[in-house]
Formats: sequence, C-alpha cells, structure tokens
Amino acid sequence: MTQRKVKNKKDHGRTIEQFCSVCKKTFEMPIVEESDNQDVLWLNCPGCRGYLPHMLNQEDIDEAVENEKEEARVKGEDLAIEDLSTEDAREYQEAGDYRVGEVIYHRSWNDYGKVIAKETLSGHRKTIVVHFVNQGKTRLLEGVV
Ligand SMILES: [Zn+2]
Repeated sequence: MTQRKVKNKKDHGRTIEQFCSVCKKTFEMPIVEESDNQDVLWLNCPGCRGYLPHMLNQEDIDEAVENEKEEARVKGEDLAIEDLSTEDAREYQEAGDYRVGEVIYHRSWNDYGKVIAKETLSGHRKTIVVHFVNQGKTRLLEGVV
C-alpha cells in the first residue's frame, strides 16, 4: 500500500529577490501577501523569518500612472495640444459652421480645441461645445448672421 505524501509547498515559485537588512543578505523570498493595489508586497525572509515590505519599482508605478493618463486622454477627459492636428485647424468665427470632431483655433485666446458637440438653444441660436487645450470645455456660438 502506497502512502500519499502531502506537500505543503503549493505556492512554491512566487518569490522575489530582496536584500534583508537584518540578515545583511539577499534572498529569494516567498511572497506571503499580495494586496489589491499591488503597491506593496510582503515577503518572508528565509534567513530571519521576518516580514519585509517590498515596494514595487518606482518605474512600474510611473508606467501605471502613464497608462491611466493615456486612458483618460482617450476618453476625452484630458486634452493635450499634441492630440490635435493643429495644422488642419479652422479659425473660429461666430458666423462659421463647424462639425463635431473638427479642430478649431480661437485667435483671441490663442487656444486650440476640438468640437465635441453641437447644440441648438432657444431662439434657434446654434452653439458648439468645444474642448480647448487651455480653456477646457466651452460653449461658443456658431452660425451667427
Ligand atoms: Zn532576514
């Protein structure tokens, strides 16, 4: 009859190399706890059995922040001048007629923006909602005769 050996080392393999200031040595330390935000991991030093926080690489964090910014930009929450094709920009004039998605230039503000919506107000006044790089979201008149 063969006896089954129960192994405890289920989680074997998840280790991070870290220097322990108590042992003054670098070990492959098993990860004991992983938090949801992943800013910090807890490692168990095999030398002194102490718990050490492992801060994730600043570069990793920077990259995550950059990715978030990029996502926000795609969603239109943030607008940068390099997102606009300013060479195609039309100068804003009250008498003009603009399309959603068009890039316009506002001379007196010296600001570029993208038309994100068109609205008709009471009295048949037409407006465009423009997301400007510096001014943010602003409503401007269009088609003024
Ligand atoms: Zn140690």
